[in-house]
Amino acid sequence: MEIINRRRRMMSVARRLRREENRTIGLVPTMGALHEGHLSLIHEARALCDVVVVSVFVNPTQFGPSEDFGSYPRDLTRDSGLLAEYNVDYVFAPTAEEIYPAGYASYVSVEGLSDKLEGAARPGHFRGVTTVVTILLNIVRPHFAFFGQKDAQQSIIVKQMVRDLGFEAEIVVLPIVREESGLALSSRNAYLAEPERRAAVVLNRALSQAQAAYAEGEHNASRLIELVRATIEAEPLARIDYVSINDAETLAKLDKIEERTALVSLAVFIGKTRLIDNIVLGESQKNVASANA
Ligand code: AMP
Repeated sequence: MEIINRRRRMMSVARRLRREENRTIGLVPTMGALHEGHLSLIHEARALCDVVVVSVFVNPTQFGPSEDFGSYPRDLTRDSGLLAEYNVDYVFAPTAEEIYPAGYASYVSVEGLSDKLEGAARPGHFRGVTTVVTILLNIVRPHFAFFGQKDAQQSIIVKQMVRDLGFEAEIVVLPIVREESGLALSSRNAYLAEPERRAAVVLNRALSQAQAAYAEGEHNASRLIELVRATIEAEPLARIDYVSINDAETLAKLDKIEERTALVSLAVFIGKTRLIDNIVLGESQKNVASANA
């Protein structure tokens, strides 16, 4: 496994692998602080591709001014150890200056989709995400890029961008990996004190209740949202940012879940930590069903 810090080196390695050795390249973009969720993406990349590149980059442009860019967990030594165990071929771990040198001025925005849900709560977040994903796709030029359903809106936006801008990479979206408790794995879970960690289980519990109610025939979005909200509000350490039911492809708000697949998504503060989670209801649920770690 080689750890690469420079974009020129990453580009030349990737070019050689693709052109001279004709190998299939898989890219797994991450911000590090790796957990089983990331590892599930790497596992799939390993199965589908000849060469696996994992990027580890805490991307400054996707954090708002009052967000946790400064305190986001960083431990490249630990991450590299895990990545070596997972037979990753290349770790691309550039500095912020390497990706955004002095005078950097170009941004990629996917309009419409980026303003809803997480985008409404975190203005500019997806512009940062689509910009860095564009840069990474251009450097690595992978055949496949792997994303998690944990960040459902991100996956939808990246797919739209890849379609619109004609990137060659195929975007593969993989199910949410959860703890046995149901808590979705997240690097930000590291911020939770023990009582908060126990309280955080309420996100998945509330979503599972909505799923059960839906299975029993409740297809009215407001009533399902009310159910989710009531469960979360009963947890004293939790404060809801939003709970929403949207079309799982277009993210249009839904009043009723009929023939379209629905994304039930939420953001909840547990103490000071903001967590997100989601569940998909409807026809193609099998494709993005939750998996346990
Ligand atoms: P991050 O390091 O948080 O930017 O995440 C990197 C990638 O891992 C993103 O595509 C995430 O959606 C994905 N990911 C994060 N947590 C999970 C999880 N619990 N299950 C599956 N994928 C995840």
